[in-house]
Amino acid sequence: MKKFYKRAWAEIHLDRLKYNYDICKSYLSGNTQFMAVVKADAYGHGDSKVAPYLQSLGVNWFAVSNISEALHLRRSGITKEIFILGYVPPEDVSELIDNNIIEAITCFEHAKAMSDAITDGRKLRTHIKIDTGMGRIGLKHDTVSGYCDEIEKIISLENIVVEGIFTHFAVADSDSPEDIAYTDKQSSLIININNELKNRGINLSQIHFMNSAGATYHNNSESTLARFGITLYGLHPNTALELPKKLKPVMELKTIVSHVKTINSGDFVSYGRTYIAEKTTKIASLTIGYADGYSRLLSSKADVLINGKRAKIVGRVCMDQTMIDVSDIDVKVGDVATLFGTDGNETITADDLADIYGTIGYEIVCGISKRVPRIIINNGEIKDILD
Ligand SMILES: *Cc1c(COP(=O)(O)O)cnc(C)c1O
Repeated sequence: MKKFYKRAWAEIHLDRLKYNYDICKSYLSGNTQFMAVVKADAYGHGDSKVAPYLQSLGVNWFAVSNISEALHLRRSGITKEIFILGYVPPEDVSELIDNNIIEAITCFEHAKAMSDAITDGRKLRTHIKIDTGMGRIGLKHDTVSGYCDEIEKIISLENIVVEGIFTHFAVADSDSPEDIAYTDKQSSLIININNELKNRGINLSQIHFMNSAGATYHNNSESTLARFGITLYGLHPNTALELPKKLKPVMELKTIVSHVKTINSGDFVSYGRTYIAEKTTKIASLTIGYADGYSRLLSSKADVLINGKRAKIVGRVCMDQTMIDVSDIDVKVGDVATLFGTDGNETITADDLADIYGTIGYEIVCGISKRVPRIIINNGEIKDILD
């Protein structure tokens, strides 16, 4: 096994991934199949290890955001279906077909350009994206028949095989009555489109519209696939809304203590002199900073766990170093500090950090930078190191 340098590292706990996978699956009913969303390097967790592990658990569908992520999954041993959620330009169409990748079609013009780019008679597998209220990509019409007419035009293209339609919820993670009604409207629209297609003699094998929040709070067995991202990794779609069943965050972020010193009342810590000691204070420096994806917006705000206790960040988070107040904690150089994760009876989650500076847990885990090795762990045992 390759060694990793104990400076800043992310632990990826596969046993927790399996735990979350089982809970996510438990929300599904009817014939809805599980689709693992592993875009953005599996939300920063390491797609080359996370996806094969999920495949070994029986996951048959994987979703990514673009062609390079799709090809990376194939190189990592994914033999099951791979679906690209977003736009791929016509110039890349042959690689999609070579690798049996299913592409999202955003509109007739996109489909036509893809079809025209295929010159050897092969067919591109597609699901058509329907904009039912997200306002991002996808077909947009005022009437069900308008949608169906455009879908029929796409189906009639020479080199395009339409296997499904899908849409994306905008507010499935909200419990306000207006938002719940909005989500219902979005799912009704795509279901109505599918029914009208059936009336026209078109039977697609896939119609899907649930993300994590959709499947958790608005499960609907008419969706043939449920696209689980954030809850699979053990985080909340929305931290203000409790999950019906508790999940386990898969990633923990850790670092070590590089220096411990006592400063006097009136001494400053870090750039900008934003922190001044009000009394004799013991400060520990950590070997992690914003270049690792630990945001500078957490300066003087977040806690860090060390030897089972909470310590406050003092002063600005630097590019490679961060300081904490350890006046009441027994700390020495080399001790491990947890930026998010569990130490003894204390836990900090990526969702907690997100709440501190007004973002979402998604951005925290996706933002842990390439400089941070991912240590793949199963039941406490190191299985692999992604560096
Ligand atoms: C990212 C994404 C998902 C997964 O969303 P989560 O909230 O992480 O479950 C599902 N569908 C589409 C279209 C996406 O872009």
